[in-house]
Amino acid sequence: MKKITIAIDGYSSCGKSTMAKDLAKEIGYVYVDTGAMYRSVTLYALRHNMFMSDGSIDETRLQKQMNQIQITFRFNPTTGRPDTYLNGELVEKEIRGLEVSAHVSPIAALPFVREAMVCQQQQMGREKGIVMDGRDIGTTVFPDAELKIFVTASPEVRAQRRFAELREKGMEANYDDILKNVEERDYIDSHREVSPLRKADDAIELDNSNLTIEEQRAWLFNQYKKAAKM
Ligand code: C5P
Repeated sequence: MKKITIAIDGYSSCGKSTMAKDLAKEIGYVYVDTGAMYRSVTLYALRHNMFMSDGSIDETRLQKQMNQIQITFRFNPTTGRPDTYLNGELVEKEIRGLEVSAHVSPIAALPFVREAMVCQQQQMGREKGIVMDGRDIGTTVFPDAELKIFVTASPEVRAQRRFAELREKGMEANYDDILKNVEERDYIDSHREVSPLRKADDAIELDNSNLTIEEQRAWLFNQYKKAAKM
């Protein structure tokens, strides 16, 4: 079967990373979690005190330092999934916490941040054979992707999944805070000026509110088979 590009977009915590990672593993493709890239930039900005007390961002300083932010992924044989490194430091756990989640959407709305991330993502997908998940993969990063999926689920279902995931990892979690964060990110991600979250016209929509992970996995694998044969 020919190598293709697979773009998986959708709302936060809708399970797209799980399905994207599993598919990539099954078909031997590279998997890229673009949310981890925006989260890493956010962690960098937090650590360098770039958030002002009024909530605004020191954009001038961040823009100047963008070339000092190196984000890489390394395969973790124990989990079977890639881990995220920020300037060589493993940050996988830190970027998933609520502090980064609460600050990531304003960072991801900055045009110079998006420009830098999209450029790196397009480089990673040059040779195809890639599954990439995010918000703008089918619309901006790979508008010519052979397979585009847009995943949705209700905010309550998504908050519950995120809550369970954090608890399982032994991290602190409060359902109401998570639901609020999910709704805030949905709003900012869908209303920003550059590459807002929206379904590409040629994307296939999947509402996975009532699907098990196994059902979702099988559905996606079928879509891949159809797309790769064409
Ligand atoms: O996918 P995840 O929830 O980890 O993404 C974190 C945040 O990064 C999103 O809420 C969104 O603001 C931003 N993001 C983005 N474009 C992408 C991926 C993520 O704006 N392609």
